[in-house]
Order: sequence, then C-alpha cells, then structure tokens
Amino acid sequence: MNWIFVGASTIASQHMIAAVRAQPAGAVTWVVSGNADRAQGWATDHGITQATDDLSQALADPEAACVYISSTNEKHHAQAMAAIAAGKHVLCEKPLGLSLAEADEMVAAARDAGVVFATNHHLRCSGSHRAMRALIDDGAVGHVLSLRIHHAVHLPENLQGWRINDASAGGGVIPDITVHDADVARFLLGEDPVDVVAQFASSGMGQGVEDSCMSVWTMPSGAMVMSHESFTHPFAGSGLEIHGTEGSIFARDVMTQMPMGTITLRTASGTREVPYSDHSLYVQGVADFYAAVAGRGAPAANGSDGIKSLAVALAVRAAAQSGQKVTVAYGEVA
Ligand code: NDP
Repeated sequence: MNWIFVGASTIASQHMIAAVRAQPAGAVTWVVSGNADRAQGWATDHGITQATDDLSQALADPEAACVYISSTNEKHHAQAMAAIAAGKHVLCEKPLGLSLAEADEMVAAARDAGVVFATNHHLRCSGSHRAMRALIDDGAVGHVLSLRIHHAVHLPENLQGWRINDASAGGGVIPDITVHDADVARFLLGEDPVDVVAQFASSGMGQGVEDSCMSVWTMPSGAMVMSHESFTHPFAGSGLEIHGTEGSIFARDVMTQMPMGTITLRTASGTREVPYSDHSLYVQGVADFYAAVAGRGAPAANGSDGIKSLAVALAVRAAAQSGQKVTVAYGEVA
C-alpha cells in the first residue's frame, strides 16, 4: 500500500517512515509540506519519490490508498477532511484537532465515506501496556482502585518550537501529552473518565502555553486516576502504577516511544517481574491499521478513541483554567 505523508515532521522521520516500510509492500510515495523546497529536501533525505506543497496534487494519486497526517495540530482537521473526501484511509496524529467539533467532523466524515480512520496513540500498541491490560483483565490486581500516571519528561531541544510557544498551532503539554495519558487510562481500565479537576503551570519552558499539568479524574467504576505531564523534568523518568484490591502493578519508564521499561506485579503471593513483547510501538500501530484497511481487524485506536482522548484533554484544560471540577463532554460522534 502506498502512503502520502502530510507533514515533514520529526515523528514521521524518526518512526513512521520505518513503520510503513516494515509492512509487506508498504511504501511512502509522497510527502506534503507547507513549503515546496522543504518537501523536496525531506523527500530526498528519506528516499521518497514525490514531494509537493499542494495536498490536492498528492491526493489525486489513485495509487496512494493511505494518508498519515503529522503536521502541527491546527492543520490536522482540514488535511484529514481533504484526505477523506479523496477516499483515502487516514491515520492521524493526536490530538485529532483543536476542538471537539473538529474531531467529531473528521470521524463522522470518515464513517460516512467508508474509509478507515485511526488515531496514532502509540502507547496502547506497546507490549508493556498490552501486558498490563491483560493482567487487569485477568484479575491479577482485583478490583482497580486507582491509576497513577507519571509522564513528566524533558522536551528535547529540537522539539522546543511550536509546542512551547504557539497556542494557535495547538501547543502546550495538555494537547501534547495529556491526550496520550487519557488514552492510556481508557485503554488500561476500559472505561471513560467522567469528570476532572486540574492545575497547570509554566515551569520554565512554556511561553504563553502550559508546560506542566497535574489532574485527577473520576472513572465510572469509582476508580481514581492521577495524571502528571510536563516538558520540564529531565530526571523524573516516566511510569504508571495500578493499584487494586488484590495487587499492584508498578511500571517504570513505559510512557515512551521505545519498547522499554519494567513491569512489577506485587500481590499477597509476592513480587514478580512481568515479561512483555518488545516489538516497535509504531510498527504495531501501522500493522493494526493495515489489518483494518484489509478488513481483518480494527485500528489500535480508532476515531472514537481520538475524540475521547481529546475530550479528556479539553476538560483538563478547562478545569485548570476555571479551578472548577469539569464534566468530560464526549459529544455525539464518539
Ligand atoms: P515537528 O515540529 O517535527 O513537525 C511539525 C511540522 O513542523 C511539520 O509538519 C513541518 O511542517 C514543520 N517543521 C518541522 N521541522 C521543521 C523545520 N526544521 N523547518 C521548518 N518547518 C519544520 O513535530 P512533531 O513531529 O514532533 O509532531 C508532529 C505531530 O505528531 C503533532 O501533531 C504531534 O502531536 C504528533 N506526535 C505524535 C507522537 C506519537 O507518538 N503519536 C510523537 C510526536 C509527535 P509541514 O507540515 O509544513 O511540513
């Protein structure tokens, strides 16, 4: 399957080109950038034969079935709508858009057009997260009481651009990382946050947008979720803890792009390390997308998942801005 890559981005060059090329007959045949020279240079660097700053030119290629969108966040909606209108299957980066209305429109349009639409929430593609979900599903921790997500990291210097200084491009740690954590909580616990309280801050990096956030979410089961995201923590490491009536899971360094980290299960029987598959998160995500396009399965995270993670992030930001508890509004499409 031939792919159009929309956005000459870091995530595309570091992970997604290789993830597509790892699939049987997977090829990136176009790159679309806002700048023609940049598109051409990027295409040359990555061995891609066609480059343009005109999205419609690439979308007119009948040989390209799939579109991967990894532009800055404010562009996702218009680019996805154009790709869907052209009959392409779409794998879109998170957050799907800047508003719930944008995300709703994208997912509804894909549904009406009969194309596959997926959200690139990579963490649920990792062996570690899949192993933890299996433990929970198997009752290893009993009834889940709480989930603590530690996702305060240090934003690499090469990414300290629009993310830290451009609200109109969708900057800020909430659209960048809280969306991922919302998806992780939903994936692990199998339920959707009901309401949230939150505080955010600028702790040295954010210029007009938040670079740190802490929030607490209530789940329908009564489980409590505590989530911490930041761009400014060089030594914190990442992780999560799931605490239940029969056991606790301690996972270190698992909120990453790489298949790494450790999982420890502690119960009345003792403490043991939990093994997991060390496959590439992004190769798995594209493989699941391929299966969906071929009618053999579902994407790892579909459009509804993308709407819901955005809805939680928007609620967290509204709660931090208002100082009030905010009910998560999921809209009608999800
Ligand atoms: P980048 O900042 O690397 O790229 C975003 C856009 O900025 C590109 O599409 C490009 O615009 C422009 N750009 C990038 N580098 C340059 C440059 N050197 N000079 C001029 N313009 C440049 O963003 P990321 O790759 O970090 O993120 C892109 C998207 O992917 C975001 O939506 C983000 O949320 C998401 N993401 C998802 C991850 C995941 O694991 N699921 C991980 C990281 C990011 P143009 O479109 O015009 O080519």
